[in-house]
Amino acid sequence: MLNIILFGPPGAGKGTQSQFLREKYDLTYISTGQILREEIAAESELGLQIKELIGGGGLVSDEIVAHIIEKKFIDHPDTAGFLFDGFPRTVRQAEMLEELLKKYDMSLTGVLSLEVPEEMLIERMLERGKTSGRADDNLESIKHRFEEYYEKTHPVTDFYLEKGCLHPVNGVGDIPEIFEHLCTVIDAL
Ligand code: AMP
Repeated sequence: MLNIILFGPPGAGKGTQSQFLREKYDLTYISTGQILREEIAAESELGLQIKELIGGGGLVSDEIVAHIIEKKFIDHPDTAGFLFDGFPRTVRQAEMLEELLKKYDMSLTGVLSLEVPEEMLIERMLERGKTSGRADDNLESIKHRFEEYYEKTHPVTDFYLEKGCLHPVNGVGDIPEIFEHLCTVIDAL
């Protein structure tokens, strides 16, 4: 089984690269952000509860996100592996993932961290905001997403660094080139 976390700050290209990775390695894709946006679009109880928070660039609770992950594990018992995009976003989520993987008799293969300078990220996200229709791709929300990232998400890299499974990958360049870097790392795992 191949269980990969694609890690990185907002706008690093995780969503784009995930589309290629899931296809090449036949992985079940879990983008917590995408699932949460679907809940908002469906105006479900959860969607209504988190709409404002996500629009403003804040993080939803660890418990909600862990529940989403567990549901995916239950729904895909025979998968070749999972590709996590945008999860874990807090150290607590990383711990919860460990517990869940253990519960379902799985283990983490590796964490690939896309490295991109911040000024490039903001530019990319503002550009994406012109067509993405995402409520959080505006300057004010982007700023808050970065605050959340540095305060709560970046510490996750230390968590995995200590475990020896963090693999930094240069996220600057054209899409096929970055994809090749990612595949080189995965194939060596
Ligand atoms: P993303 O599509 O990964 O950029 O996520 C969009 C938004 O969804 C984030 O800014 C958060 O508000 C929320 N979100 C996505 N994944 C998580 C997570 N693992 N933990 C908390 N909030 C999340």
